[in-house]
Amino acid sequence: MAGLYLHIPFCKQACHYCNFHFATSLQHKSELLEAMQLELIGRAQNWQSETFETVYFGGGTPSLLKSTEIESLLASIRQGYRLDSTAEITLEANPDDCTEENLFSWQQVGITRLSLGIQSFAQNDLTWMNRAHDADQAKQALIRAINYFPNLTADLIYGTPGLTDDQWIQNIQTLTDLGVPHISAYALTVEPQTPLEKQIRLKQKPETDPEQQARQFLLLTEKLATAGYEHYEISNFAKPGFRSRHNSSYWKGIAYLGIGPSAHSYQPPVRSWQVANNRQYIEQIRKQVFIHESETLTQAQQLNETVMIALRTLEGLPLSQIPPYIQNAWEPLLQQYETAGWVGRSADRIWLTTAGKLQADGIAAALTVDKADQIN
Ligand code: SF4
Repeated sequence: MAGLYLHIPFCKQACHYCNFHFATSLQHKSELLEAMQLELIGRAQNWQSETFETVYFGGGTPSLLKSTEIESLLASIRQGYRLDSTAEITLEANPDDCTEENLFSWQQVGITRLSLGIQSFAQNDLTWMNRAHDADQAKQALIRAINYFPNLTADLIYGTPGLTDDQWIQNIQTLTDLGVPHISAYALTVEPQTPLEKQIRLKQKPETDPEQQARQFLLLTEKLATAGYEHYEISNFAKPGFRSRHNSSYWKGIAYLGIGPSAHSYQPPVRSWQVANNRQYIEQIRKQVFIHESETLTQAQQLNETVMIALRTLEGLPLSQIPPYIQNAWEPLLQQYETAGWVGRSADRIWLTTAGKLQADGIAAALTVDKADQIN
């Protein structure tokens, strides 16, 4: 079982907070897509034993591709890889690309799930983020998209300076009222080397407020629980039957193949990645260099990743994956966290409470181990 990710590194304009790899010029799009086709062909041999249950077009903005280009990438996948007949095939799309014509053709070429980068319905917030769409486009795109893709997800961002709690509640309610069955919501983070980081450094924009972010996270969990969504991962909420199969496979440590510049792959215990530069990526692939860099994870690194990822999920961390001597070493910390109301425990697993989710990074860091003799 495996997942396949394709990174489409083009966007109409740069959102100020974004640190993903993308270019705002489409000048080299054809060459880049040719290189991705070559990469798909060149790496197929190493993935023959896997059945792919999910395909994910991410980026960047995959909805900038023509549907024939999406179709052609999917044809190469079907030709070179074993793709499950019920595979979940997701396309990330920006609202301004969601015309009736595009929605229809994405459906025709085999996309089964659409992920819409809404981020906010408040115009002041969208302008602040430098998004390419406006508030009305965001809403109209959702209304159109859900007719073609009942398996629909929307992204929101909270904790942006200027987003009031009332606006935040309104953002959440707009999605629940429209019946969007899956929502991903992220606290705004200020990433290095982004326009936002520079603007804050030059005091052109205020810093983020951790208290506002915590408050808006709690509002989010409360409103979506009331509306019948399962909080199945720290940033992800789904109506029953609508969890993201692709992201869930990452959280279960399942192998994935990443195609395109900056894409990461994981074939346990080896993680590899492509160069985050379109020109260099095209040159490397033309020379049949299919892996830019790689590292083999130690058992300790694998265990630390398992802990960090599993604690973010509703199911929590199965203790069967943790050697008893590590569980013993954790015991004083876990007792502290339990007393603080951050961690819940049963005989076979530990999980974070809602209050604990606000401390997730710190808890995972505190449970980090340097050596793990045996993981299973
Ligand atoms: S559309 Fe997405 S990938 Fe492109 S700049 Fe904005 S956030 Fe980043």
